[in-house]
Amino acid sequence: MVKTGSLISPHVVIFPFPIQGHINSMLKLAEVLCLSGINVTFINTQRNHSSYLSFSDVQSRFGCFPGFCFETISDGLSTDQPHSAGFRNSQDVDMFHRLKNVIRPGFRDLLTSDRFKIDARGPVSCIIADGILGFAIDVAGELGIPSISFRTSSACSSSIYFCLPKLIEHGDVPFKDEDMDRLIKNVPGMESFLRCRDLPSFCRAKDLNHPSLDFVIAETSYSTRATAHLLNTFDIEAPSVSSNASLYKEDRSCMTWLDKQPEKSVVYVSFGSIAMVSREQWLEIWYGLVNSGHRFLWVKRPDSLLAKDDEESHVQAEAELIEATKERGYTVEWAPQEEVLNHSSVGGFFTHSGWNSTLESMVAGVPMVCWPHLADQQINSRYVSEVWKIGMDMKDNCNRLTVEKLIRDLMDVKREELMKSTAKVADMARQSKGSDGSSYRNYEGLLQFIRKTC
Ligand code: UDP
Repeated sequence: MVKTGSLISPHVVIFPFPIQGHINSMLKLAEVLCLSGINVTFINTQRNHSSYLSFSDVQSRFGCFPGFCFETISDGLSTDQPHSAGFRNSQDVDMFHRLKNVIRPGFRDLLTSDRFKIDARGPVSCIIADGILGFAIDVAGELGIPSISFRTSSACSSSIYFCLPKLIEHGDVPFKDEDMDRLIKNVPGMESFLRCRDLPSFCRAKDLNHPSLDFVIAETSYSTRATAHLLNTFDIEAPSVSSNASLYKEDRSCMTWLDKQPEKSVVYVSFGSIAMVSREQWLEIWYGLVNSGHRFLWVKRPDSLLAKDDEESHVQAEAELIEATKERGYTVEWAPQEEVLNHSSVGGFFTHSGWNSTLESMVAGVPMVCWPHLADQQINSRYVSEVWKIGMDMKDNCNRLTVEKLIRDLMDVKREELMKSTAKVADMARQSKGSDGSSYRNYEGLLQFIRKTC
């Protein structure tokens, strides 16, 4: 439903890639823009939108902004499919088909529909599209609307995306398994530490015609046509607000459990909203955590297990582990993550290095063990360990001994040095949000840009 907003304010359309991590950061941007008096239309897929309505307080949070409204478009899948289906597997050729043939025309139709023509908030003056939805920038250009390409992932991964044609030209991509540890010299600023294994996961494709490689190159190239670019890093974190944008139902019982644990004693374990784990990996992690002797809070999304298997030995191992972790382990299907990371009992984060999780951990001053799965997570974890030195990278190495060792390093052996650099990074993040900080100033610049489009 369209509500009446300010007639003189710009009207911005925000369009995220339809998965949790992307929606989270773009919804936060929507919220700060609304707080600054900008009219905002936020586009969700119909399936994601119905999950919001059941699980989160997003509707009520945005209810206080008269210039805000949601619009929905179809993603080509039936609404009875879970919201997590259809957009998280980069091997899924059908996903690329739906993006091109369902979502792109749906987006264009919505922008040219009567809804916007009669909108009391005035015509759309600017489109902020997810950096990996380059086609939205193309549509904006076609309709003569200024556009901003918003990279929800890290700046370091974005520079690799932009260098991809050069990496292919120099034969860095694709690479052989035995070259995983070879240094890559063709991404400026990363020559001393970037290895093949740190490149975004789609670079592991063996074939240059792989659809995910094609998709990233094409969308990155489209996105360069945007009028402006926005990066989701400290420079845009300025007037940061907390918003619940969960597509999953949060289990808040873990907060009560955390209240009862000693200071900085708990390892928070979560692999984000799309990573999938095999039963074998799951058990290795569990053994590693148990053998480390530390307390843990583990987010086990029910849809994160690759395949259910009833192998006798696994069932028995799991029963033993449940017994062994009763005293110092707690599991939930989805947690209020930002609150968890800021809880005084949490001392470390075992993460998949999704960019939102990495930023949230940095801001909360919590050191990490990183087990990257896909896309930008591979390079994020390398930066965490080698450049910022606020954690350890467990990349490609999921076994109980490694998990145990790295958790001990995180919580005991390397604790002091990790806490020093983590505190520095958290401090930088805090300063950037202050009224003299870089994020604050950049946000002012963004507002000026948007106001001029009106
Ligand atoms: N998240 C959460 N509860 C959980 C697990 C994750 O609220 O139990 C949130 C987390 O705070 C982050 C987002 O989900 O904002 C995950 O985004 P990220 O970029 O870290 O990873 P992705 O899900 O895209 O792989």
